[in-house]
Amino acid sequence: MYSPSISGVATSSISGSRIFVYEVEGMRQSCETDQTSNPIRRSGSVFIAVPYDRMNQEMRRITRMGGKIVSIRPSNSAPETHGTVAPELGQQSQKSGETTKPMTQAKEKIQVPVNLYKPANPYIGKCISTEELVREGGDGTVRHVKLDISGGNLHYLEGQSIGIIPDGTDKNGKPHKIRLYSIASTRHGDNLDDKTVSLCVRRLEYKSPETGEQVFGVCSTFLTGLEPGADVKITGPVGKEMLLPDDEDATIIMMATGTGIAPFRAYLWRMFKENNPEYKFKGLAWLFFGVAYTPNILYKEELEQLQAEFPDNFRLTYAISREQKNVDGGKMYIQSRIQENADELWELVQKPKTHTYICGLKGMEGGIDEGMSAASSKYDVDWTAYQKQLKKEHRWHVETY
Ligand code: FAD
Repeated sequence: MYSPSISGVATSSISGSRIFVYEVEGMRQSCETDQTSNPIRRSGSVFIAVPYDRMNQEMRRITRMGGKIVSIRPSNSAPETHGTVAPELGQQSQKSGETTKPMTQAKEKIQVPVNLYKPANPYIGKCISTEELVREGGDGTVRHVKLDISGGNLHYLEGQSIGIIPDGTDKNGKPHKIRLYSIASTRHGDNLDDKTVSLCVRRLEYKSPETGEQVFGVCSTFLTGLEPGADVKITGPVGKEMLLPDDEDATIIMMATGTGIAPFRAYLWRMFKENNPEYKFKGLAWLFFGVAYTPNILYKEELEQLQAEFPDNFRLTYAISREQKNVDGGKMYIQSRIQENADELWELVQKPKTHTYICGLKGMEGGIDEGMSAASSKYDVDWTAYQKQLKKEHRWHVETY
């Protein structure tokens, strides 16, 4: 069971993050069975993947559905789980119902949940709170949105995303399509009780090129405008590109622009804020964070507090484009910081324990490559070829949108 310690730092048992597989007979086919678990069927039995902390709840649900549990086993020993796959880091496939494979870098096999809830039967979560993250004088609206997911089987890992189906219909009267959002909380959620998921959402607003009118994005406006208690349709989780390695001695280089901070907040909270017995980070985490103005530095206080508390393990480098100047007198974008630190970064990326993650605005990769290319060319190394190799080794991870 996951429980906060006296200091406000969480403690958990290993079992808190484990998945078990129930083999169930006699379960009535219904909306509920289809919606909550998407069980695998074989000769009258269904197999349901259940997180440790939801076992009792799931047992009650199965009994309610007329089912009888004939076996329970840890999913590590199960060749089949449904909608839950064990990854090798960086694998791209996100199909549901894949077979379980061992995760090469894990101490024990870790199951990555994928597509537990699909668009036809989304999980209905509830808004707990939304909190403005842009301070006075900053640009736009970005909110930390916390959703209750305690009622079903939705669970996730750091670095994954969930889909949101906004309320209402599009201009053709059809339900809106899903939009993806990177998860900003650890697998245990902000309340450390495994019952919430948090997002970091920028409200899209722009001037229509045709009419000059202010236009607001459908889903981002829906999410940032949620009132506590409101229902939210959630799908997923999806994504294996941005998973954090289990290696406690790894070097984790993170490059974020704007809401690209979301997965990195989850990593950093897991590394430094939670006291997980199965993961005690002892390596180096280095965050490069690009924003327009100081008030746009999302989660600023918490990031700086972490840096003050863990100066040997966490480096924080901002690029504040509208306030700082780069060496050439131009705007300080994230790529300028990468170029400033390129030699050190080049040293780091060559180490087998280093993983680099890029998340945020599309287009941020170009400048990063330029910086790395300048550094590697000093040693006659072609950056494009080297990066290809890093990607092959699942040590160069990119999620831009
Ligand atoms: P929509 O109503 O869908 O409007 C978007 C459309 O508006 C665009 O397709 C384009 O046609 C038009 N448009 C946009 N800007 C302009 C412009 N300047 N001029 C003219 N037309 C324009 N977003 C977050 O805020 N936080 C996240 O953590 C996050 N994570 C993501 C993770 C992934 C893997 C992906 C793929 C996307 C992520 N996004 C995230 C983006 C998110 O999915 C949505 O795309 C975003 O919120 C906008 O959706 P919307 O419904 O508000 O906008």
